[in-house]
Amino acid sequence: MSEKQTLQEQVCERFRLYLVANGLRQTRERFAILRAIYEQEGTFTIDDLKEIMLAERFHVSTNTLYLTTQLLVEANLLIRHPFSSSASVFERIADDRPRSYQICSHCHRITRIASKALATSLETYHPRSFHVSHRIVYVYGLCASCQRQMHKRLKAASDDSAPK
Ligand SMILES: [Zn+2]
Repeated sequence: MSEKQTLQEQVCERFRLYLVANGLRQTRERFAILRAIYEQEGTFTIDDLKEIMLAERFHVSTNTLYLTTQLLVEANLLIRHPFSSSASVFERIADDRPRSYQICSHCHRITRIASKALATSLETYHPRSFHVSHRIVYVYGLCASCQRQMHKRLKAASDDSAPK
């Protein structure tokens, strides 16, 4: 069994237990969606997920995708990022590795931060009487491209308002 298959079996079992514990139905669609999500790396939207399912010739309604992703978030198998773009952005959480992202407040571009120091400090945070399921940090600001645009606009504005 490959590492990917083992991971898929593990998450399917966790999802099965979650559904049983909450008296929810174990449908073929729900598991197909979970498998499709765990085939992917990185972030995705509901529209991306719909395309992935279609490419696998598995037809599910947008409503089913919304409901199932919601269940997976509640089951701690998926995170919904609080990014301020219009569509919800999801990502699987296969492991307990800390994650950190920087988000441009202007264009909403998201990039992973590869900082060992940040990862280490997140790993060593062990609060009392609170079970940590995942460790995520978001850093907001302006990306290089938006900084350049902003700089140009500010310069143009100050040139316009300069006394002639
Ligand atoms: Zn930007």
